[in-house]
Amino acid sequence: MKWMKYLFLSLMLLVLSACGQQSQSSQVQSGLRIVTSFYPIYSLVKEISGDYNDIRMIGSRNGIHSYEPSPADVKGIYDADVFIYHSKILESWAGRLEPNVQGSKVKVLEASSGLELQRVPGLEDVEVTEGMDEASLYDPHTWLDPVLVGQEAVLIGNLLAEADPERASYYNENASKLQQQYQDLADKYRPIFEKTRSKTFVTQHTAFSYTAKRYGLRQLGIAGVSEEEPNPRQLAEIKEFVDTYDVKTIFVEKGKSDKLAQTLKSSTGVDLKILDPLEADPENNLTYLENLDAVLDTLAKELQ
Ligand SMILES: [Zn+2]
Repeated sequence: MKWMKYLFLSLMLLVLSACGQQSQSSQVQSGLRIVTSFYPIYSLVKEISGDYNDIRMIGSRNGIHSYEPSPADVKGIYDADVFIYHSKILESWAGRLEPNVQGSKVKVLEASSGLELQRVPGLEDVEVTEGMDEASLYDPHTWLDPVLVGQEAVLIGNLLAEADPERASYYNENASKLQQQYQDLADKYRPIFEKTRSKTFVTQHTAFSYTAKRYGLRQLGIAGVSEEEPNPRQLAEIKEFVDTYDVKTIFVEKGKSDKLAQTLKSSTGVDLKILDPLEADPENNLTYLENLDAVLDTLAKELQ
């Protein structure tokens, strides 16, 4: 009966090796191909997905506001299983994608659709009239408030769970762990911002309204994020602004044209410092949470 024992063993080995192959290949084949619109969404989706899915970011490395997808980007989206973007307010082109017309089965998902977005400060009372693009009245920059990032992580977890029901609990668990981490980050900075000497900061890119609201701060923007050189009249107004609010520092973006801020530096003596709105991939191997932590730290140190 020895041969039967051998046969049994060989069969077992065959079955085992087949199982191994199957689980390996199913991991590759059944993982979703996910395309994301820009850095914060890419990072969240990647963390919630673990290693299961193939996650890409379209070519928005230089930021998202003026970004329009190239034909290759659109093709990448239509070839994917899922495309996740932040908000129609930010990536308005994403709302115009027409996968069905293109014969694509990609699911197009808006990650912020469960978040309550607020009006851009100063535009709260503007009435929506016919022909007006209402979206332009709202502020998309929720990714700079840790509490809202946590909420968006949960929303992304839900979207992934719907797109891939087999792994629903895995995605939802990762997302809720992530939400707790962002809540902890938010809590860490509450007492720090409560104690800062100053509560007002000035930015060239007014991306920090939600951050300001979270911590009882006030963000002032210079010259409506204009990147042009101000004319003498505008410059006089800005000088007055700097004097009125006793502005010492203007936060600018890394890698963006800061010509306006440079002009201000030479004409008003204000300091320029970088405060990253985390719209472009910082390419530094830190998690999104660590990068957001660094942004909050920069802001807190300035206000101390
Ligand atoms: Zn922005």
